[in-house]
Amino acid sequence: MSTDSRATEPVVDYDEVLKKYDPVMGLEVHVELNTATKMFCGCATGFGAEPNTQVCPVCLGLPGALPVVNAAAVDSAIRIGLALNCEIAQWCRFARKNYFYPDMPKNFQTSQYDEPIDFNGYLDVELADGSTFRVEIERAHMEEDTGKSLHIGGATGRIHGADHSLVDYNRAGIPLVEIVTRPIVGAGARAPEVAKAYVAALRDLLKALKVSDVRMEQGSLRCDVNLSLRPKAEDANAQNDVPLGTRTETKNVNSLRSVERAVRFEMTRHAAVLNSGASILQETRHWHEDTGVTTSGRVKSDADDYRYFPEPDLVPVAPARERVEELRATMPEPPAERRHRLQNDWGYSDMEMRDVMNAGAVLLIEESVAAGATPAGARKWWMGELARRASVEGRDLADFGVTPAYVAELDALVASGRLNDSMARQVLDGVLAGEGSPLAVADARGLQLVSDDGALSAAVDAVIAANPEVADKVRDGKLQAAGALIGQVMKEMKGQADAAKARELILEKLTAS
Ligand code: ZN
Ligand code: MN
Repeated sequence: MSTDSRATEPVVDYDEVLKKYDPVMGLEVHVELNTATKMFCGCATGFGAEPNTQVCPVCLGLPGALPVVNAAAVDSAIRIGLALNCEIAQWCRFARKNYFYPDMPKNFQTSQYDEPIDFNGYLDVELADGSTFRVEIERAHMEEDTGKSLHIGGATGRIHGADHSLVDYNRAGIPLVEIVTRPIVGAGARAPEVAKAYVAALRDLLKALKVSDVRMEQGSLRCDVNLSLRPKAEDANAQNDVPLGTRTETKNVNSLRSVERAVRFEMTRHAAVLNSGASILQETRHWHEDTGVTTSGRVKSDADDYRYFPEPDLVPVAPARERVEELRATMPEPPAERRHRLQNDWGYSDMEMRDVMNAGAVLLIEESVAAGATPAGARKWWMGELARRASVEGRDLADFGVTPAYVAELDALVASGRLNDSMARQVLDGVLAGEGSPLAVADARGLQLVSDDGALSAAVDAVIAANPEVADKVRDGKLQAAGALIGQVMKEMKGQADAAKARELILEKLTAS
């Protein structure tokens, strides 16, 4: 089957899905921890190093190499568990998850299986309408990342159609925590929104814990989306008695927006398959950001295919209760309290705050304000011009190339009177084109409001002289007519004038007796 024929798999309208089916989701989020060294060896973990320069016999899986558990990673895993309201295991072990893949030189991943370090938790997620949805956490376990394969020569960067492949083991052995939800039921039509809101809430929580960079576009936070549909029960109270349908797992969905879209797409595709009388194949799927569809990956292994068994080279992890309590004392402010505090500090209305949350912009605004932006200015830029441009490009605000520090700089340039809004938008063009910081772009492009009263005054005089009838109206007290003159002055000054100042001068010249 070619990629093209897969891409045109039939779907049904979203509203039609919900008339007949009830969606059930399971979200698996892999978080790369920001420890200085890897999970089982002393190799460095920095992102972007030359391929295969951060490796050693342990993370390359050479014979005889022995792993040692990274204590800092265990602390981070416990803190994540505590933040997710989990129980922390008294005693747990690592396990070998056996499978062959070239980016995993040991031929097994050291993970945890039936003894995760964190289990039985939940995360309360706030939705767009202000309601709260509780997502139950089944477990969060420690494991190691794999290396990275690069497929060269194909059009899509995938292995199909590639000439050859390269492997970079720098990522192999980087500590991961995998957070697995229980089946998320009862979300109904809001399933895509719940999925996105959950990942956004998790991202903000992990950021507040300072355990990860949580950069989705760099892969330090990755989401796998499991979805199934089951028939809608006649009696809504009996819905949870209806057995779950067959699920698919869409791998590595790497932006908040894509999480929402992938859930929505799979719902419409599953419904089309089920409506046709066929059944869903349990498989992994690839998400295509550009076309907004998933395509078939491989038939999914069940856990027993992995031949899990306890890792014989590592001692069990038995966190002392005193240590767990010490770590509990380091918990950041709970998300709901934090949100209320920020809303208060920023003076946003409930609706403004919810819009900011839905756009995934809370952290961005917090960091912009910390960098010196006014709360109103930060909200204006992130929720206005930047949100619009990110949406046109189909990207998350956080991955968009404009940093909170840049927004603070832009806000200051406007507040100080150096730029007006339309000049600020030109500055953003330059920033997004990689021309540097807002100040550098404004300097390079010669953007500067003319505050020199002499030049502005001369322009106002010229415009009054050229528009005697309009000027007479203003003299007669029809002040709204001044708008036409201000427009002329702005034109004369090539947009580099302060409109408020121009208005002031016009009124002064025409109405002062
Ligand atoms: Zn190593
Ligand atoms: Mn995993």
